[in-house]
Amino acid sequence: MSKVKICTRFAPSPTGSMHIGNLRTAFYAYALAKHSNGDFILRIEDTDKKREKEGGVEDIKRLLGIFNIKWDEFYVQSERLDLYNKAAERLVKEGRAFYCQCEAKNAKEDGFSKDLRDPCRDKNLTSGAIKLKVPDNEGVGFTDFVINKKVSWSTNIVGDATLLKTDKFPTYHLAVVVDDNDMKISHVLRGHDWMPSTPIHLLVYKYLGFDVPQIGHLTDIMDPDGGKLSKRKGSTSVQGLLDEGYLPDALFNFVILLGWAPKNNQELFNLNSFVKDFDQSGFQKSNPVFNRDKLDWFNGQYIRKLSIEELINKLNLENTSKNKSIVSLIQDRIKKLSDFNSLTSFFFEKPEVDTKLFGENYKKHLRKAIEGIQSERDLMEVVKENDFKTGDFFMDLRIAITGVKFTPPINESIAILGKEEGLARLNKFI
Ligand code: GLU
Repeated sequence: MSKVKICTRFAPSPTGSMHIGNLRTAFYAYALAKHSNGDFILRIEDTDKKREKEGGVEDIKRLLGIFNIKWDEFYVQSERLDLYNKAAERLVKEGRAFYCQCEAKNAKEDGFSKDLRDPCRDKNLTSGAIKLKVPDNEGVGFTDFVINKKVSWSTNIVGDATLLKTDKFPTYHLAVVVDDNDMKISHVLRGHDWMPSTPIHLLVYKYLGFDVPQIGHLTDIMDPDGGKLSKRKGSTSVQGLLDEGYLPDALFNFVILLGWAPKNNQELFNLNSFVKDFDQSGFQKSNPVFNRDKLDWFNGQYIRKLSIEELINKLNLENTSKNKSIVSLIQDRIKKLSDFNSLTSFFFEKPEVDTKLFGENYKKHLRKAIEGIQSERDLMEVVKENDFKTGDFFMDLRIAITGVKFTPPINESIAILGKEEGLARLNKFI
């Protein structure tokens, strides 16, 4: 028997800026398909028009593009309403769903009925919203391929979910089943928060006579302080993290290891090596923690791998010889691109110096430094000759030149600034 082609999809709703958890789902779904030369589909789930954000679709495409994720097929649910309407009407005809005219009144915020069994279910109405007629006392279940466990429910806890709204738009529950079937999705991969919807979907699959695909729910990404990931300590949106100065390569590498691990201890992955090594059994069962220090570490690794030219480009700098020298001086020292400005602003403008930062001997230190620089001597010799404390001497020099205590190496910095500018900054204080 020939193996069924693997086909996965990423199915975001264009309702806001893409979260790091969604990006992770996209990477895993992509790798799962591409590892076996399968297809990866991008499907926009835009059936909730009220929550849609303008430019949301373009944004999703742009962000996936930044990470080189390419899709084989592309669909937009709002362009496929016919399909969902037909499926819903069929379910009514076959006694598996019913028209309801108290949809809004009887709906909680998440779209579920306030009562599990809807008052309209036995009224035989002929128009309105369409809801699933959930049977009592039955079991529904599936084996989750991420956590590798059988999950089951009694239908007694499953509500008569809305499938089609009065505006003829489907809800997620109907559209997801119709589309996953229509698009021949072999593996459905989604976040753990969708687990409560799965029993509804399983009933819809059954009543529409569709084969149930493999379904897997990814772990939740946790905050280092406990609980689900929150924005307290910085951005958790993909764009926000890019804006903070994380490189796409670093973000990719960090994200794929939040919930998946290779068989060996390899840590550095790019898209190609991840696809090649991807293996479903690498999905972790416990919730990963979003560790920013680890992300910083990855980012540092990828910044060091860049050529000076590449780094100049990423920093949006002009390719001048001064910029090249500055960039090579800080390449080993920055964790994020956004560290660049604070570390190097003194090269581009005269610093504001708080004289309280100087040590008590600063005048003596600066005077001797000026003499040393003028006669092009090694400043270490100046320190020894005058019996200065090395740390104190260079700290005063650093503060006078840069205004701050943490900077790139000061000798090299003065060389880049130029002797004249260096001397001018020192002379100001004596
Ligand atoms: N539209 C859902 C989301 O935004 C998709 C869930 C699924 O993949 O089934 O995450």
